[in-house]
Amino acid sequence: MRVAVVGVQGDVAEHVTAVERAAASRGHAVEATAVRNAGVVPDCDAVALPGGESTTISRLLHRRDIAPELVAHVEAGKPLFATCAGLIVAARDARDSRVETLDVLDVAVDRNAFGRQRDSFESRLDVAGLDDPFPAVFIRAPAVADVGPDVEVLATVDGQPVAVREGPVVGLAFHPELTDDFRLHDVALFDPLAGD
Ligand code: GLN
Repeated sequence: MRVAVVGVQGDVAEHVTAVERAAASRGHAVEATAVRNAGVVPDCDAVALPGGESTTISRLLHRRDIAPELVAHVEAGKPLFATCAGLIVAARDARDSRVETLDVLDVAVDRNAFGRQRDSFESRLDVAGLDDPFPAVFIRAPAVADVGPDVEVLATVDGQPVAVREGPVVGLAFHPELTDDFRLHDVALFDPLAGD
């Protein structure tokens, strides 16, 4: 099994570690690969699209021809785990013309939705499908402003969706890779492959 961690911007080592730990907990032999160029995603069973700066990430994904590979990946029903800026890039509408989204998740998002007062914060979040709260780290996080009919809301903060699922795509407004808790990597990347 091969998992791509899109690494067009910055270091994605924490995501690679979380993917490997989640895989090990299931007894899967998984190769997690940081992807910076076209040609790798088509060979992968699942993809993580990490955070960073959504304007930069979307520009690089299109310039390097990775964007159409990600769209084809989701159209083939394979898991995509999009976190923070990754959620913004995956969305139908980023409400910001500088972000050319992939439109693989039927939501509109508001970038930096939690304002200056709450630029970064942590929250023990109740997430549908998890038995115990998840330690969610929010950093200049987006919120989901508008949810399409096939999108399931998994968690909210102040009534705003911050975790959603639509078919093989899970989107989070926060950074699951910044804690030791790999449950959401596990659910998003490996549950669909197991046919759960
Ligand atoms: N604020 C960033 C953006 O709008 C997202 C921040 C993040 O990924 N932590 O792209």
